[in-house]
Amino acid sequence: MSDDPETARQIEELAADDRPLLVLDVDDVVLEFVRPFPHFLKSRGFGLTLASFRLTGNIAETASGRLIEQPEVMALLGEFFDAQADWQSITDGAAEAFAALGDRAEIVLLTAMPHKHRAVRRAHLDALGLPYLLLTTEMAKGPAVAKLRGKEGRPVAFVDDQPSNLVSVQNSVADAYLFHLMADNSLRAFLPPVPDGIVVLQDWREAAPKIAAALGL
Ligand SMILES: [Mg+2]
Repeated sequence: MSDDPETARQIEELAADDRPLLVLDVDDVVLEFVRPFPHFLKSRGFGLTLASFRLTGNIAETASGRLIEQPEVMALLGEFFDAQADWQSITDGAAEAFAALGDRAEIVLLTAMPHKHRAVRRAHLDALGLPYLLLTTEMAKGPAVAKLRGKEGRPVAFVDDQPSNLVSVQNSVADAYLFHLMADNSLRAFLPPVPDGIVVLQDWREAAPKIAAALGL
């Protein structure tokens, strides 16, 4: 599986840490995405009607009804990420969960977004009181989590709302504890059942004790 060289470079910069590792997706795990994004789209003259668990094919220009193609979706996402401080708040219960976990685990946020948005997201997370390490990747998450883990045997837990990211980590780190958490559980209706070995969490209140138990905290 391919490795994102910029993500690898970001990981090289980190200090070694022996604590159990907790890797978290950002959009719809730590920060709200699917709730604010339609409001952003509306402000730009577009509408999101989720008929499947994807953006492309579900966003239309309001005036014409025209469904927009992938490059336009990516451009709007880029604008949204540039303006994320105006739109994205912390997901319900996440701050309390982090407080409960304290400094017993190394918490790393691994966000699949173009690297150019890293500084904006860093500043926004800091402003929200979330000083955790932040890595960006433009490729699969599995190799990044394997590299982050460092030495064999260090307990690893990974939380994401995208099943494909969970499967990627499952394929790269066979003994990782995997958790599927979605800021909006109604979207589960669009997804097939989660693959074996992945634990479904309804919210952060349920997540915190389960993650702590998995990591032996
Ligand atoms: Mg996400």
